[in-house]
Amino acid sequence: MLDAQAFFFDLDDTLVDFGKARRKGLIALAGQLASRIPDQTPDQLRELQSRIVEDRTRRGLGMPQDGDLRGTRIQVWTEVLDFIGAPDLADPAQLVDDHDLLTRQNLELYPDADASIRWAAERFQVTGIITNGPSDVQWGEVYAVGLDDRVDRVIVAGDIDAFKPDPRIFEAALAGLGIPPEAAVFIGNSAAHDAAGALQAGWSAIWLNRDRDTYPPSLPPPTATVTTLDELPALFG
Ligand SMILES: [Mg+2]
Repeated sequence: MLDAQAFFFDLDDTLVDFGKARRKGLIALAGQLASRIPDQTPDQLRELQSRIVEDRTRRGLGMPQDGDLRGTRIQVWTEVLDFIGAPDLADPAQLVDDHDLLTRQNLELYPDADASIRWAAERFQVTGIITNGPSDVQWGEVYAVGLDDRVDRVIVAGDIDAFKPDPRIFEAALAGLGIPPEAAVFIGNSAAHDAAGALQAGWSAIWLNRDRDTYPPSLPPPTATVTTLDELPALFG
């Protein structure tokens, strides 16, 4: 049975269905872009964008969580426009911003998030969110789904220049509270960023395994694993 004074959630793909919102945002963006160029369909543009991202990942260029994610995404759209022979069709930086806006507009809490946020607020002294990403993007998401006034603390990696699994972001979450790391619990969907990061900072870590994946054997095992947020109260008795 777990016990704790502080309980923090990851945001993307833990409380909000970021992956779905991102895909819907991309469909809308590709539609806007295709309406301005006669020989491209939205599906073609979307597939091209995905292929370029996959190709970068294969070449080890990746889409970094920290560092210059925005610059990388601008580079992807530059490659998309070059590939279709229309480098001046749109400003790649504007496309990144448009995709973020359309993502926010499609962002929703998971069906199990509402009850678990309420449960945590009642059960723990302090609740919060710890999220990786740029300040403007992550705060935009938090406000879009109204989470800002439902937890005590929101810690955004871009604000403090420390990204999960860096222990400094977990230290920042507890700063000034007088709560030791061993009395803090973090839940998130990423084994490497969330579970391993929290453990390294001395916290208990709950891995949220919505997709029934295998936990990477190379990482220290999480304190507990759940497949939905509904399973949380039972862990704490
Ligand atoms: Mg996540």
